[in-house]
Amino acid sequence: MNYVSVKNRHIKPPKYPIQDMVDDAINVIQASSYLARNRAYLEKMAKVKFIYTPEPIANSFAARNGGNSFGVYTFAGLSLLMCTCAAIFSLYMRTHKVSQAKRAVKWLFGNVFTEIEAYGEEWDAIDPAKIDEFYQRFPEYLVKENYPQYMELARKMITFVLCHEIGHIMLCHCDRTNETSNNVSRNNERSADLFACSILQGTGFGSSFVDGSIFMLLTLYFMYDKKDKNLQYGTHPGMKDRIMNIVQSFRNELMYANISETDIKRLMI
Ligand SMILES: [Zn+2]
Repeated sequence: MNYVSVKNRHIKPPKYPIQDMVDDAINVIQASSYLARNRAYLEKMAKVKFIYTPEPIANSFAARNGGNSFGVYTFAGLSLLMCTCAAIFSLYMRTHKVSQAKRAVKWLFGNVFTEIEAYGEEWDAIDPAKIDEFYQRFPEYLVKENYPQYMELARKMITFVLCHEIGHIMLCHCDRTNETSNNVSRNNERSADLFACSILQGTGFGSSFVDGSIFMLLTLYFMYDKKDKNLQYGTHPGMKDRIMNIVQSFRNELMYANISETDIKRLMI
């Protein structure tokens, strides 16, 4: 069946530039009492710089910038991926059509990734042409009235990413100069996730961030799933574990959130 229709050809897919996404996320983070109530966190936050770069790399990380400052780096590829995933997840949350969502996820994660060479390294990147092709294949996500919901979810997903990176900085994970073992790295990922939850809970609107946090980790789950089935032994802990940890730490908020544990599990199997 050919999904490409003339009608949809002129509709632009939802776009949320990385800079706007990051700026919006910073506003949320700055409103959290979890950071504001702790002098050490506040002092460190003053030394954090948020840096967004235009490469289509689908990644973010925190690093020490020499001296006493820190950088949280976010790449434009991440916003492209988040927006598209947010379109899929947000429609799924409203319709609960799991097979529709899975078809879209399967195509997206099977087709949009490419590798680019930057900063002397190979990176997972997003091919923007493939994102356009995605919307032509799945025109159910090209309904303009739904874009504000997609943007809202994408913003919450990026907010979780930034909170996680801030977690690495606050918990001094960026201070080690030597290579860390897989075991340490796994624990670091887990504690950065929990730190992110605490920041979001400190905004007083924790329940509204549950979906974004879980969908962010689900995105990683699909991303790693595509590459490596044997995640337990990599530097990133099993994504299922990480998702269930988040579910656990948001257990109070889940009662008021617009997503349930069943919704999540149905997408993962
Ligand atoms: Zn991390």
